[in-house]
Formats: sequence, C-alpha cells, structure tokens
Amino acid sequence: MIICPDWLVTSAEHAEASVAIRIDNGAVSAIAPASELIATFPGEEVIDASGCAVLPGFVNTHVHLYGTLAHGIVVQTPPIGFESFLDDYWWPQVEDRLDQQMIAAASEWVCAEMLRTGTTTFFDICEAPGALSGVLETEAEQCRRAGLRGIFSFEATERAGAEIAELSLRENIDFIDQHQGDDLISGAMSWHTVFTCSSSFIERAAAEARSRNTWFHAHCNEGTHEGNWAREHLGCDTMAFYRDLGVTSSSFLASQCVQMTSGELDIIANSDTRVSHMPLSNCEVGGGIAPISELLSKGVTVGLGTDGYVNDMFEVMRGAFWLQKARLLDPSSTPAHQVLQMATEGGAQALGLKNLGRLEPDWIADLQIVEIDVPTPIDPSTIADQLVLWRSGHHVRDVMVAGEWRVRNKEVLGIDVERSTARVREEASRLWGR
Ligand SMILES: [Zn+2]
Repeated sequence: MIICPDWLVTSAEHAEASVAIRIDNGAVSAIAPASELIATFPGEEVIDASGCAVLPGFVNTHVHLYGTLAHGIVVQTPPIGFESFLDDYWWPQVEDRLDQQMIAAASEWVCAEMLRTGTTTFFDICEAPGALSGVLETEAEQCRRAGLRGIFSFEATERAGAEIAELSLRENIDFIDQHQGDDLISGAMSWHTVFTCSSSFIERAAAEARSRNTWFHAHCNEGTHEGNWAREHLGCDTMAFYRDLGVTSSSFLASQCVQMTSGELDIIANSDTRVSHMPLSNCEVGGGIAPISELLSKGVTVGLGTDGYVNDMFEVMRGAFWLQKARLLDPSSTPAHQVLQMATEGGAQALGLKNLGRLEPDWIADLQIVEIDVPTPIDPSTIADQLVLWRSGHHVRDVMVAGEWRVRNKEVLGIDVERSTARVREEASRLWGR
C-alpha cells in the first residue's frame, strides 16, 4: 500500500513534505512523491493521510502492564520516601496481591491504550510473586491479539523467599526459550535490584540470558536508596558493583538511573550499557530527575519508558523535554528531536531491536499517522517541536505494526475497549479489596 501524508518523519532528525511511503511485506519499500509511487505501483491501495504526519511508532522501553490496576488507588500507608514507597505501599498493596486474572485484564487494556497513543513496541516487566508461574504467557496472549511487538520479562527477586526466587528466574528462562524466533513476541531476563538480589543470583540470571543470546535488565538507583544501600552493604556504588560482577555491557538495560555518581555515568558509557529513562514515574516516587542530558552527551543509548504510570508516550516525551531543562537551568538542553529520537530509534536500540525506529527502505513498517492540524506553519527543522510539545495520543489516527493496521481512524482493531475497561475496573476493585 502507499500512504500519502502531508509530512513524512523518517527519523527524529529528518522530515519531508509531500512524499509518500510504500509498505510491502511488513517493511518500508520506497519513499518518493505520491504521483511517482502510484504510477510505479498501479492498483495498490492508497491511504489518504492529508492533514497528518507519518512517523515511526513509539518504543516504550519499560512498562508494567499490571500498573494500570493501581491508577487512582487509595493508598493505605502513604509512603514517606522511595524505600517506603516499596515497603509500605507498592509491594504489600499492589504487587503481592496480583493474580493472573487481574494481570490478563490489565494487559489487554494497556495494549489497547499503547496502540491508540502511537506505541508499537514495548518492554514489559511483570512483578507479581503470587501470579507465578505462566503469567508471562498470559500477558503475551493479550499482546498477540492486539498485534503489538512485545518483549516480556518477570522481575526475578529474592525478596519473597527462595521458592519465588527460583520460580521467577525459571519464568524468564522458559518464556525466552519458548519464543525464540518469534517476530513479535520475545523474552528477556530481569531481576529487581542489588538490595533484593544477591550477587550469585544476579550472576546466574545474567548467565542464563547470555547463553540464550538475549539481554538482561534491572531497575537501577531509582532514588537515593539503592546507591546508599550498595555503598553500605557492598562497599561501592551500584554500577561499580555491576561492573565488577561483569554485568555492565551492551547486554545490560539499566532502567531509571536517576541518582548516579559521576563515576557511575562513566561506567555506563564505557561499558555500552543501555538506559531506559522514565521521567514521569521518577517524579511519582520522589526519586529525582535522571542525568539524561549527561548520558546522551557521553554517547549512551537511551530510550524512554512509561513505567506503567502514564502510558501516553507524548506525555513522557514532554516530561523528558522539560525536566532536563529545569534541572540544568538550560533551555538548550535535550531539544525536541533528541526526545523524539529516544522515543523511537533510541528505544529500539535500547531493546536491541534492529531496523526499527526509522521509516527508511527495508526498515520495519511500525508507524503511526498523527493529525498535525497545528495553528502555526510547519518546518522540517521544527516539526519535532510541534509533535513533542503540541500533540498527544488523542491526535493519533492510525497505527501499523509490521505492516498490519492495528488502529484505524482511532479505533483499536482486535480489542473491544469498552468491554476491556469494564473488565479492568472489576479486577482493580478486587485488587483494592473493595
Ligand atoms: Zn519499573
């Protein structure tokens, strides 16, 4: 098919007016003026996207699909810091109460939510000791129906005892093995943190992933707690501990990275460790503002994530855009095209995905059509600003994953959103104990 938009944003740094894009066999096949493509490929379906921009689908590098069940929850013991956020609220009131039925409902709904706000690829980290085993397969079933590209992991942890530790590791290993060679659904390894996992457990998790040619992930220094804990109990910074353990590498996706020493930033950069940045949830937990500008200037691969908190990547992009400027007292920091890069190609690279995040010949046809009826003239040099600052998920008209439409005229195909919302509300009420 041939899609004819007003603007084609082929990458965060490049946009062209009045060109069309041809999709064939799940990939971009050609980019040229519409008349030329239509003449060369007569009889092909032509999609009118006038008034719209076509851009790469977003890559959400860190989501918790179950997280939506806690949106608006009445917190029983209001947290007084990051440690308390986990100990007094998140673990006892959310994670430890989850079962597979709740997670299935939330997964379906969030897949629809991500699709209709332009996300085509995501990395999920499930944290629910009570939902073991098989919960990743339950999540993946929902993803497959929605037609998204999903990478799934279970956050292995030793905090809930030896049996859960073993089952959680096994959950990842089995899922990775069962989805080798699957185009849309795959697995990766996750463990929680250095304060919930021993060095031998982390080493084992990393080795299991390496032997399966996949990567591994952990939450790192989401607030001041983990770094302080590491210095007190391990005698060094979190990243120095990971470096000495042989974990920091291009196979390591380090999420959060909020409270880092300058030495830790160097360890990340020197080891090609990849980073997932979640500006909004970092605010939620009182964690701080991650030094993303510094990481980017050191050449680190950074993607954006929602953390299951606010899942509209347009909102997350705005968070990344504004917070770095405010932190550094510098309006030139983290320009819009850099933010858009993190939301697309940077995210794909952070997840180890090739030929994804740009719209160029032979790249995967994951794209979104966004209404761009803004009240000011559009220029190739400012279209990233228009998209990052003045668009939102509400402006996403159509979404394609691997050449297949998954959203058409703002309707998610394959999921009855109204029914799904009712189902999540019921499961959330059950989780909340109402
Ligand atoms: Zn998280």
